[in-house]
Amino acid sequence: MSAVFAASRPSAGGWLAIVGLGPGADELLTPQAAQALAQATDVFGYFPYVERVPQRPGLVRHASDNREELVRARQAIELAAAGRQVVVVSSGDPGVFAMASAVCEALDAGPLAWGEVDVRVLPGITAMLAAAARAGAPLGHDFCAINLSDNLKPWALIERRLRLAVEADFAIALYNPRSKARPEGFARALQVLREAGGGARLVLFARAVTTPDEQLKVVSLAEARPEMADMRTVVIVGSSQTRLIERPAGALLYTPRSAPGMPE
Ligand code: SAH
Repeated sequence: MSAVFAASRPSAGGWLAIVGLGPGADELLTPQAAQALAQATDVFGYFPYVERVPQRPGLVRHASDNREELVRARQAIELAAAGRQVVVVSSGDPGVFAMASAVCEALDAGPLAWGEVDVRVLPGITAMLAAAARAGAPLGHDFCAINLSDNLKPWALIERRLRLAVEADFAIALYNPRSKARPEGFARALQVLREAGGGARLVLFARAVTTPDEQLKVVSLAEARPEMADMRTVVIVGSSQTRLIERPAGALLYTPRSAPGMPE
């Protein structure tokens, strides 16, 4: 099978760019994303993310609730098909538990004419990479990412993936650990992780990384409590090899590059 992908430059007419705003700090917005935002006639997204795009003449901001992803995706595609220059924003990277898949799903199910719409996905710095960098290098060996929200998948599947990830000794980044709508899930997730791997693994709670509200905390899995996370937290559970070095100039949490028994 051979697929022909679109060029990475926008075409002259209407276009749709699905853009990642990064974890929060302005300097972590890519120049490419900033350029798309500067050229846009319309910006769509969950309202706190749309608020991060400054208002200016000629820009229409369409903010919506976070459960309305498919509706938002269809509206954005419609406007791009009609010749507008449309940006859909996500936090972090738009391909990580965010709008890029929603737009692809809408295109996949949409009318034939949508096949002509110029669609580009512009990457951003995702929460786990920003959090890992602040703490050191906990994702320096093999790792995986799991979304703990069970809005779009059954809880049994989340538990199975958690167990298998611990068994495979991945470091594990947990997105959407805890919300008001799902108060019990994260407690259960911690219990599953402990059952599968014991209590010794190190856990990083990284909240609102790169924003003025940033908080970083490292505890063992035995000490980890559900209240340590909220919706602005990404949790990185280390592998069995992840270590914490305490240094006067600042601690470093890292996972060695080599598996146990390999030469350095
Ligand atoms: N597309 C986003 C993820 C959206 S899911 C990305 O690539 O980062 C929303 C979850 O991302 C939050 O519940 C939290 O787990 C994580 N998250 C987003 N921004 C964060 C930040 N600045 N600090 C810590 N976690 C963050």
